[in-house]
Amino acid sequence: MNTMASTGLQHEEPLLFEYQHTDADSISLPGVDDALPVSLQAHCRQQAAGIPGLAEPESVRHFVRLSQWNHGIESGFYPLGSCTMKYNPRVNEQLVRLPGLAHVHPDQPDDTVQGLLALLHGLQQALGEIVGLPHVTLQPAAGAHGELTGMMLIRAALDARGESHRRTVLIPDSAHGTNPASASLCGMRCVELKSGSDGRLDLDALDAALDGDVAALMLTNPNTAGVFERNIADICARVHAAGGFVYGDGANLNALIGKARPGDMGIDCLHINVHKTFSTPHGGGGPGGGPVAVNDALAPFLPVPRIIREGETYRLQHTDGQSIGHVLGSIGQVGVLLRAWAYILAFGREKLHLIAEDAVLNANYVLARLQDAYDVPFPGLCKHECLLTDHRQEKQGIKTLDIAKRLIDMGFHPMTVYFPLIVHGAMLIEPTETESKATLDAFCDAMLEIAAACEAGDTAALHEAPVLPFRQRLDETTAARKPVLTWPQTEQA
Ligand SMILES: *Cc1c(COP(=O)(O)O)cnc(C)c1O
Repeated sequence: MNTMASTGLQHEEPLLFEYQHTDADSISLPGVDDALPVSLQAHCRQQAAGIPGLAEPESVRHFVRLSQWNHGIESGFYPLGSCTMKYNPRVNEQLVRLPGLAHVHPDQPDDTVQGLLALLHGLQQALGEIVGLPHVTLQPAAGAHGELTGMMLIRAALDARGESHRRTVLIPDSAHGTNPASASLCGMRCVELKSGSDGRLDLDALDAALDGDVAALMLTNPNTAGVFERNIADICARVHAAGGFVYGDGANLNALIGKARPGDMGIDCLHINVHKTFSTPHGGGGPGGGPVAVNDALAPFLPVPRIIREGETYRLQHTDGQSIGHVLGSIGQVGVLLRAWAYILAFGREKLHLIAEDAVLNANYVLARLQDAYDVPFPGLCKHECLLTDHRQEKQGIKTLDIAKRLIDMGFHPMTVYFPLIVHGAMLIEPTETESKATLDAFCDAMLEIAAACEAGDTAALHEAPVLPFRQRLDETTAARKPVLTWPQTEQA
């Protein structure tokens, strides 16, 4: 993270268009000096745009410098719990850049994109098989979008069976914030379920909330505390007996893949964050893909167009009476979906389980090395991510935020902090299957060094951190409450 030192730049980096250059002819592109066709001349700008010219090397250096001030999965370990930031194999990138895939137009006739449709159909079938829910739409463009789509499917199914009064969605208090957001956006009423003292769904709380208005339970398994909901079959049976659906948030599929299937557990509808489980670079909020898999009961309502196979040909089916319609302007985020298919095929049906086994092993290794130095709120084995808190360090005046910031100076991206919300001072660590023992050891060594410094009362560096990156400790409250969103910079009221 100390790339700032290596660039030698200590001043504020101007935005590209703030550079004081006026040489508008600093770059010329071959071919653009030719006379324009008459039909285009009327559309030409009559005056210069007034954009400062900048030589190509200067603009390239500007962007490369900005990228070096960032920490990404390609510059170091990124143990971001719940969000599965795993390394993205280069072969995936080569595949999606093949001209026959990268240069296809979303509205091209089906008979000109048979290869692409065959790949997407293959992915669709594989995802259905992996999660045990055979009917899949690839359209949703993110996990949250998949949640909204799933809620729309459940709503449509309830309407179709004359139960439009069922609008309550039960959501555990450990859920990702997108769950209640998506359900509310779909016109549902959200009711929060308190977790038990073991971090799992409390069956009594569930029973008390299950009434004739319940449309669905939205559940993440393993949940966001990295704990497997071991009563899942019982939970699903109770919701079904009360006439509701079980929606599964599949963001934590990394812990289950090849080992257990949400469909077999009784879940009716599940979104899969392909950018997480099946590797796509998705820092900064995108790009993503949130395919939704459903059982027979919900299948008639899936979005159109649907990718249909007829013998050796593929076609898009654009209408279906009961469908909820389109949820995206195309058949999906094709680049993300193809990366996912490449990742799945690299393992193959026989070896997919290695993903979950290595991910869970790695998380438990980190937990085993750190559990004597940090408080563990829910003792026992974890799944693909382990949860710690700052409870022991708090006595020395050190909080989760200080530990996270100190990690930056030690060369690591912080873990997820203060989530799940049910655990005070949470630190959620997800190593994923792609990291080596050497990397995990280096991270654990850093965490143990921090804990030892706290124990010894040597906390100055922890309060000041981070001192090495380009940006140091920011005022996060002001950044959230008074964001500067315009240029030139003016504070928002
Ligand atoms: C990431 C995540 C989501 C939301 O997915 P996006 O693709 O970011 O929209 C939902 N639930 C859980 C548990 C997640 O980790």
